[in-house]
Amino acid sequence: MAAAGALVLLAPCSTHRVPPVDLYPERQAWAQQIDWSVAKQEATSVLSAYLALDTSNPPGRESLGAAYLASILASEGIEASTHEFAPGRSNLVARLRSEHPEEAPLCLMSHIDVVTAETEHWSQDPFRGTVDDEGYIWGRGALDMKGTGVVELLTLVWLKRLGVPLRRDVVLLAVGDEEVDNLGVRFLADHHWDDIGCSHVLNEGGVGVEGALVDGLTTFAVAFTEKGSFWLRMHVDGPPGHGSTPMPDSAPAKLVQALDRIRARKPKPTFHPEVYTLLGAIGERAGGLTGAVLRSPTLVRSLAVGRLMDNPVSRALITNTINITGFGGAEEPNVIPSRVWAQLDIRMLPGTTSADMMAELHELTDGIDGVSFEVLQDLPAVESPTDDAVYQTLVRRVQLEWPDAAVGPLIMPGTTDSQILRPLGVHAYGLTHFLLTPDELRTMHGHDERIHVDTLATGLRVVLQVVLDLAAHDKPGG
Ligand SMILES: [Zn+2]
Repeated sequence: MAAAGALVLLAPCSTHRVPPVDLYPERQAWAQQIDWSVAKQEATSVLSAYLALDTSNPPGRESLGAAYLASILASEGIEASTHEFAPGRSNLVARLRSEHPEEAPLCLMSHIDVVTAETEHWSQDPFRGTVDDEGYIWGRGALDMKGTGVVELLTLVWLKRLGVPLRRDVVLLAVGDEEVDNLGVRFLADHHWDDIGCSHVLNEGGVGVEGALVDGLTTFAVAFTEKGSFWLRMHVDGPPGHGSTPMPDSAPAKLVQALDRIRARKPKPTFHPEVYTLLGAIGERAGGLTGAVLRSPTLVRSLAVGRLMDNPVSRALITNTINITGFGGAEEPNVIPSRVWAQLDIRMLPGTTSADMMAELHELTDGIDGVSFEVLQDLPAVESPTDDAVYQTLVRRVQLEWPDAAVGPLIMPGTTDSQILRPLGVHAYGLTHFLLTPDELRTMHGHDERIHVDTLATGLRVVLQVVLDLAAHDKPGG
C-alpha cells in the first residue's frame, strides 16, 4: 500500500533534529501511568491470538475476528456490537462515550479480513500466531492490518482503564471484506453511518519505511486521498469467421490495435500541490543537492520529472494511469469470435473525472469500429483537507516520535475503505504507525508476514498519544 520503491537514490546529509514541542503535555500525562513493558506483552498475546483466526478473504469469515474483539471489549466493560453483512461475515462497532461531547466522534478503523496465504512458501504457519525468539509475531495480517486493529482496540481499552475523560466519543470500527469488495464498510456506510457519526476516521494508508524514497531516509506518508478507480471492460465487435483466413476488421485484430494505442499513450505529469509538500518534506530531511531540488517545485518540474516518470511508483503519483489487466472472449483456436474484450484498471488523480478518462479513451480508439465500454466500477478521488487538526496531529506525533523522518501527505495509488467514507463528508486519513524495513514491508500481501513486538508496542503508544491529543481532556495535575 505504501509508496514503495526508490525515487531518487542519493544519500541524505546526516543532521540531528530537535524534536518539535509537544502541544498537549497535560493530555499526554495519562499515558505516563501505563507500564509499557506490560502493555507490550498484552499487545503481543492479543495479536497472536487474533492472527490464529483464519479470516482469509475469500471467504472472509470475519465473524470469528469480530467475536474475538468483542469478547475483549466485553471483559473491559466497553460497549460493542457486531453486524452481519453476509453469512459468517460481521463488522464490529465499539464506542467509548464522552459525557459532554465538544466535537463529533473520532473513528479508529481497521479491517478484519486478510489476503490469502500460500502456506507452503511460509517459514511459519500463517494462522498460528507464533512469536519467535527474535520477537517477531508471525501471521497473515500482522501488518495488513490486524496489527493496527489490535493497536486501535487496546487504545480504547487503555482510555477506559485509565478513566480518561473524553472531549468526543472514540469509536472502534473493525470491518470485513476490505481486501475484495469493501462490503463491510459499504454496509456500515449504508445502514449505520448516521449512528456512528464520526467526522474523522483514522485508517490504513501510508506507513513508515526506512529508505523508501531516499536512501537512508525514513518517510512516513499520510494518505489524505486515494486515486479514483475507474474499471472498464472494453468490448470490441467484428464479423465472425474462420480462423484460417485473417481479416483486418476482426474483433481480435481491432482489440489489439486499440490496446496498442492505449499502451503507447503518454500521459503528461500532473503535480497535485500536496505532491510538492511531500517532496519538500523529504527534501528538508535529505539536504544537499537532492534536498534543494525536492524543496523547489520549479526544480522538481525541470530536473526531477524525468526520474519521477521513469519509476512506476512515483509515476503513478503524478499521472492518470490506464492499466490493461486482462482479456477474454476467445473460444476455439480456429474460430474468429464476433466479440472480444479487455479489462482496463484506470486510476485518476484528484481533479480528473471518469468522463475525462472516457473522452481520452474515445480519442485513443477513434477510427476503430465496434468499440464500446462497460463500466465495472467508478469511484472518484475525494480529498480530505490537510489543514485539518486531525491530519496535523498525525504529522506532529510522527515527528515527535521519529524526529529524523520525513512526514508528508500521500495520494494513495491504490484504495482502502476510506474511499467509501470520504464521499459521505468524512475526513479520513491513512497511516499505519509502524516503522518498517523494506524487507518487512515486502511481507505485506507476500510470504512470511510478521511484525516485531517493539514495532507493535511503539505503534500502540503513538496511536494512544494521537487519540489523547484529539479526544482527551487534560489530566488534572498532569
Ligand atoms: Zn489493508
